[in-house]
Amino acid sequence: MQTADVKRRRALSVLAATALGIGGCASRPVALRPRIVVVGAGYGGATAARYAAMWGGEAVDVTLVERDPAFVSCPLSNLVLGGSRTMGDITVSHERIARHGVRLVHDSAIAVDPQRRVVRLARGADVRYDRLVLSPGVDFFFDRIDGLDTPAARERFPHAWRAGAQTVALRRQIEAMRDGGVFAISIPRAPYRCPPAPYERACQVAWYLQRAKPRSKVLILDGNEDVQSKKALFMRAWNEDYRGVVEYRPDCVLTSVDAATGTARFETADDVTADVLNVIPPHGAGAIARSAGVVTANDQWCEVDFLTFESVKVPGVHVLGDAIQVAPLMPKSGHMANQHGKVAAAAVLAALLDRPLNRAPVLNNACYSFINDREAVHIASVHRYDAAQQTFVSVPGATGLSARKSALEGEYGFAWARAIWDDMLG
Ligand SMILES: Cc1cc2nc3c(=O)[nH]c(=O)nc-3n(C[C@H](O)[C@H](O)[C@H](O)COP(=O)(O)OP(=O)(O)OC[C@H]3O[C@@H](n4cnc5c(N)ncnc54)[C@H](O)[C@@H]3O)c2cc1C
Repeated sequence: MQTADVKRRRALSVLAATALGIGGCASRPVALRPRIVVVGAGYGGATAARYAAMWGGEAVDVTLVERDPAFVSCPLSNLVLGGSRTMGDITVSHERIARHGVRLVHDSAIAVDPQRRVVRLARGADVRYDRLVLSPGVDFFFDRIDGLDTPAARERFPHAWRAGAQTVALRRQIEAMRDGGVFAISIPRAPYRCPPAPYERACQVAWYLQRAKPRSKVLILDGNEDVQSKKALFMRAWNEDYRGVVEYRPDCVLTSVDAATGTARFETADDVTADVLNVIPPHGAGAIARSAGVVTANDQWCEVDFLTFESVKVPGVHVLGDAIQVAPLMPKSGHMANQHGKVAAAAVLAALLDRPLNRAPVLNNACYSFINDREAVHIASVHRYDAAQQTFVSVPGATGLSARKSALEGEYGFAWARAIWDDMLG
């Protein structure tokens, strides 16, 4: 049975062939190849674009729109805050992906018109699509914390939850902090981008302070009732490696900040005044998802059909990565976004080229957290599509956790990053 996309494309091909006087139409005219447009060249989007081009070959036209000049990885960015890695170590050129048949456009997507199937770019051009894939990551709700939505407050309390200029700004604050000062990190309520990453950040900052400013403290102000990932492993690090340096406080739901004094206020917990206050604001799907009309859950995340990652609301628009309303026990991680990218690429090609759809996709996730400059721990899991529940479920017995931190795990963690960057960008 032909999909609606295939029927529409075939009708257009016949019309064009007739107009051009071509009979039989053995190969698809270049101008009529189905157009796949991907917004966001991060973990989800670059993977989707690369695999769509690789698996679709000459039969499709793939365009990847990205606003940043280079890819800067959030994974390993906490090590830049700790000082053992540089921004250069986590920055990769996007240009590599062009070698794989992907047209890379460095521009911002500013609007989507799903009726006309057009993406508007900041520099004025319109890009038409047959299938659109959005992997825009997250945008931050600064206005949900009193006092945070001013230029002074945003400068004073960097989030560094998108790697790049924010990472550099936070590192500068940590370096400038007095010995005996307090670094505090405020974690929003789950679900948030990368559950273990705030705790890894606390370890990295503690590792640096222990050496450079040994009288200083790290306060973890968690908006949740408990540690959200790798709890036993992080608790051991805080109790053994960073005893007297790291303090963990649950139930610290941030309500306001004061840029003049560096004070954080909470729903119920006591006020905290810190020398460096790293506020991770609540966040949701990147803004372009809102323009496309695909933000459907709590005005925050995008619900998708998990067989195809197509929006449940807007046909022809697929959403990946951190922007989606995740399935149970599915983390918002780079590895998971990379997996979404492959399932979505295959599903888009199935719709456009009349190929069979995989009705039983399986995803996996491995997440390394660095305890110091070279030792890491990991958690791994497998998620299978369950047709009855129409969602992904975690495969029992497949979840694995390191027994303890080790340098070997650290080597695997660095190798994981290199491998996934190659998988995304070629
Ligand atoms: C400190 C930290 C540590 C982390 N550590 C790990 C880890 O160890 N392992 C792991 O698996 N995950 C980790 N993560 C999580 C991981 O970074 C995210 O889950 C992942 O980046 C999600 O991929 P994505 O494609 O959804 O978004 P992103 O990778 O953020 O990509 C989104 C891209 O879209 C672009 N974009 C957005 N809007 C537009 C627009 N309108 N026009 C053009 N371009 C646009 C952005 O510039 C960006 O390049 C970490 C996150 C943080 C913050």
